[in-house]
Amino acid sequence: MEFVFALKQHVGAPAGPVVCEGDNIKRGQMIAAKPENALGSNIFSSVDGKVTAIDDNYITIEESDTDFTSYQKLTGNSPKELIEEAGIVGLGGAGFPTSVKLNAHFDGDGVVIVNAAECEPILSHNIARIEQEPENLIKGLKIVMDLVNAKRGIIAIKEIHKEAIEKLKAVITEDDIEISTLENIYPMGEERAIVRETLGILLEPEQLPMAANAIVINAETVLKIREAVEEKKPLIDKDMTVAGKLKEDASVHIFFDIPIGMKVADVIEKAGGLGKEYGEIIMGGPFTGKRTSLDAPVVKTTGGIIAAEEFLPGPKKIGLLVCACGANKERLEEQAKSMGSEVVGVEYCKQAKEVKNSRKCENPGRCPGQVQKVMQLKKDGAQAVLISNCTDCSNTVMSCAPQLKLPVYHCTDGALRAVNHKLIRKFKKDE
Ligand code: SF4
Repeated sequence: MEFVFALKQHVGAPAGPVVCEGDNIKRGQMIAAKPENALGSNIFSSVDGKVTAIDDNYITIEESDTDFTSYQKLTGNSPKELIEEAGIVGLGGAGFPTSVKLNAHFDGDGVVIVNAAECEPILSHNIARIEQEPENLIKGLKIVMDLVNAKRGIIAIKEIHKEAIEKLKAVITEDDIEISTLENIYPMGEERAIVRETLGILLEPEQLPMAANAIVINAETVLKIREAVEEKKPLIDKDMTVAGKLKEDASVHIFFDIPIGMKVADVIEKAGGLGKEYGEIIMGGPFTGKRTSLDAPVVKTTGGIIAAEEFLPGPKKIGLLVCACGANKERLEEQAKSMGSEVVGVEYCKQAKEVKNSRKCENPGRCPGQVQKVMQLKKDGAQAVLISNCTDCSNTVMSCAPQLKLPVYHCTDGALRAVNHKLIRKFKKDE
């Protein structure tokens, strides 16, 4: 089976190949290195095999007879060295090199917040891993707290994950680690939403958690830190959720340790294979995932692969309402095109502020009102709206768009329909 390793699967410069075509490679061997004095991350092979191609973007390895229970160990000594060498990056989707984030140093008063929100609907591999290995999450958190000299550790997790919460409580013996529960709405896993919910501090869109004396770090990243430090394991495997229009319809599969570099088609095969009819394959979650192809490889930040329901035919003219924490304008345009609709207007939620060529929400998940924006799209000639809003704002859109005779489509519809999940529309607080 062919494995493909992207040289850029993180924030920063692409890694530089350190192997040649024809080389025989072992699982856990470094195949591309972070350029010196640059932001970046090392890349390791997740398989035994032979390098068959190298280009500017990828290293391809023909896998053979891999023993997936073992790997070449890291050589570093200190936790900091091991985390950097292992090529660990933010696995919640950000891909920022973790060793750089952990350069932070508190004066004994900071807090490390583990983001265990797993906020995207359908994705459930983080919570499943926590239920299976709660003690390893605590060990990883302690490593991070020691490294940055933090006074407290908080695990932020949605209140609906009762089993995971109970299992964590059973293994927390320290007074300086606590659990903070989050409401079951999107996007409670957004970094600044987590800081607001756990510390009561609303950061500006431009501010990082350090402005609140905090570091926010994804739960799977924390687990990989423990593996690097205690088991000297490089980042070669990835937990993920595979779901949707598979042969076994409307199914959701959780996989631990999918080898990075495996192609999407091969991962879907592990879940039983693709169904006959689907609309698109999404890499990531329903809100922020991107359309992908069966040939694309799994990268460090891949959390989900979803075969979405076929697109419903849309109206002739459609208006887009864009959220800073959901699908962006380009993604909504792509979906509108697949629905056969012409985009006649684009509006942004008024809390979606432009920050460094992207958008960030001023107060994630707390609706500022959407009536004006929906009315503007109606004036633009829209016969329906396609939205990517958070749960609270979608609720508001549903209180006005139908009265204006505008049907509502949501960017998550195809993914959610594919697993018979309730659509993002009206919601009740206690759902
Ligand atoms: S308030 Fe607006 S920008 Fe913020 S999360 Fe909700 S829809 Fe997105």
